[in-house]
Amino acid sequence: MERTVQIQAPLPHIHSVNIWLLCGDPLTLVDTGPRSDEGLSALEAGLGREGLRIEDIDLVIPTHHHLDHTGLIATIVARSGARVAALDRAAEYGAHYVERSEADRSFSRELMLHHGVPESVIEANEGFWDYIRDTSEAYRTDVVLSDGDVIAAGGRNLRILARPGHSTTDALLVDEQSATAFVGDHLLAGISSNTEIVPVAEPTGSRPQARIQYLDSLKQTASMPLGVLLSGHGDVVSDHRALVRRRFAEHRRRCQRILAALEQGPAHAYGIAQHLWSARTVAEQPLLVVWEVLSHLDLLLDEGTVSEHIFDDGSRYGKARFSPRKQGERRAGNPNGQGPGTSILYPGGHRPA
Ligand SMILES: [Zn+2]
Repeated sequence: MERTVQIQAPLPHIHSVNIWLLCGDPLTLVDTGPRSDEGLSALEAGLGREGLRIEDIDLVIPTHHHLDHTGLIATIVARSGARVAALDRAAEYGAHYVERSEADRSFSRELMLHHGVPESVIEANEGFWDYIRDTSEAYRTDVVLSDGDVIAAGGRNLRILARPGHSTTDALLVDEQSATAFVGDHLLAGISSNTEIVPVAEPTGSRPQARIQYLDSLKQTASMPLGVLLSGHGDVVSDHRALVRRRFAEHRRRCQRILAALEQGPAHAYGIAQHLWSARTVAEQPLLVVWEVLSHLDLLLDEGTVSEHIFDDGSRYGKARFSPRKQGERRAGNPNGQGPGTSILYPGGHRPA
């Protein structure tokens, strides 16, 4: 098989992102790194070590829409004329990148307000979104792939498989012949993947249950006969089934910690986060901790051990069947008839008319 070369581009917070060069015809990059001077230099240097230039690239395939995986697509296309192939939903996001990320930004603001994050903390972290805006760029997709399609890339055939959860656009690119898959941030060796909670395309009154979708996606991946997984950050994964088992155990433990925090009484998601992480972490990463708590609460709501009550000033969570006596409660208990804890109510502000 043709060689695969790992190129690492620097990133704040998470150290680096992997760009995969697939030597072979057509010369392909899986993911690109962020749109930054450091990112571009790292890509050029990595290609240079192989005697290549950006102008030589024929094809770019992003694993998902996040800026560290797509930021340089437009730059690479402008210099090389490369084609872009992407899963339909990543193609859609790329075509409307600015509008979509602005919508994510305002949705996230309301999500945080609804779940107890003080406005001052939200204001102090606006830089997160400025960073996304500054290091991303819209991209056009020439070959829009559907779940299950196969594309020739770097001297091999890759099957694209949708694996939503970490983001709505996540995909695996699987070379079945060598049992190798490019997996983006779907499964990482060193850290558990976060699951973003974003506006749904067609509001149905429900909050997207990203973690439930993610665990379902992980199960599908664990059932596949894969030898090597090349991921978006950090090391290669060689025993994906053991790693998936470990991630499931971690989710279970985090759910237990949330239940333990709720022993002290009902709380909003940000209040629960304060039991789970340091004051500094919850102050500096309010959106990530809210995503993390909400996505685990969804698992607990789903199994009926937790219930959600929505008040005018936001949602509170408690052990199942808690019944707070509080003024201003709008809606309580189980709106869907799916067991005591099940709630798929939408976070504040985006309730459909
Ligand atoms: Zn990502």
